Amino acid sequence: MFGNKELQDEILGSSSFEVYDFGVRNYDAALGRWMNLDPLAEQMRRHSPYNYAFNNPIYFIDPDGMAPQGLDDIIIWYKDKNGKDQKFTYTGNNGGAAPNNAYVKSVIDASNYNTKNGGGQSFKKIAENKNLKVNVAETEHCSTSSNNTIYWNSEGGTETDLGVVMSPATVLEHEADHTLSRVTNKEAHDNRSSVPDPNYSNKEEKRVINGSEQVTARANGEVKSHQVTRKNHYGHTVITNGSTSTIVNLQKTYNYYIKLSSLTPYDYTEQLKKYKPKK
Ligand SMILES: [Zn+2]
Repeated sequence: MFGNKELQDEILGSSSFEVYDFGVRNYDAALGRWMNLDPLAEQMRRHSPYNYAFNNPIYFIDPDGMAPQGLDDIIIWYKDKNGKDQKFTYTGNNGGAAPNNAYVKSVIDASNYNTKNGGGQSFKKIAENKNLKVNVAETEHCSTSSNNTIYWNSEGGTETDLGVVMSPATVLEHEADHTLSRVTNKEAHDNRSSVPDPNYSNKEEKRVINGSEQVTARANGEVKSHQVTRKNHYGHTVITNGSTSTIVNLQKTYNYYIKLSSLTPYDYTEQLKKYKPKK
């Protein structure tokens, strides 16, 4: 997950949630993505002063065990033409059987793009491992992950404070790496998440940013081989021209921050100024 200025992890019970700041103060992004079904939602609500109307983009959630047995790999959730929830189980090589749905296609495209270029190993491992069950679900806000679900905005890239724009594909790999470590060794993941780091918020972010994020961003040509995407955990969402693109769509990014402005009490003047399309 990518925040803006302040980024911190809060440990609520045994689970770690990332809390980050879109602009001014801490905003609990995870909360907005939580499902009503999530037993942790109540617990989180108690800890968070805010509960914004951010629930609409996410329809499902299964943190643990709601997917039918035998459907392992990566379960991509989407809405069909009638607005009905559907899922497609992606095994890493059955893309040809994917439904005609833009979100499903963009997940597969992003994954293929990463691996073809030499990155994306975490997502690939999840897809190919029959023992792992991870969900990918659509969000119109910034990408994040919790439990065994990756909430991914297929147009959401991240611009770091070094001015590097990472494509949504690279962001997908970042979140896949967190998720892979969470589902394969939760204790180690949670331990790393709970250890603060002066530059990277915590040790888990440091591991991912310096690991899969750099590998994938370099493979995708988003940074040169001697460059890094960032030396911290700062960054803000930008809406790009597509899941593998680093070209910022000013109008869409502007609209994204206009919407955030209407949903949260934070001041996005800086972003609105930066992304206001030139007439
Ligand atoms: Zn992260």
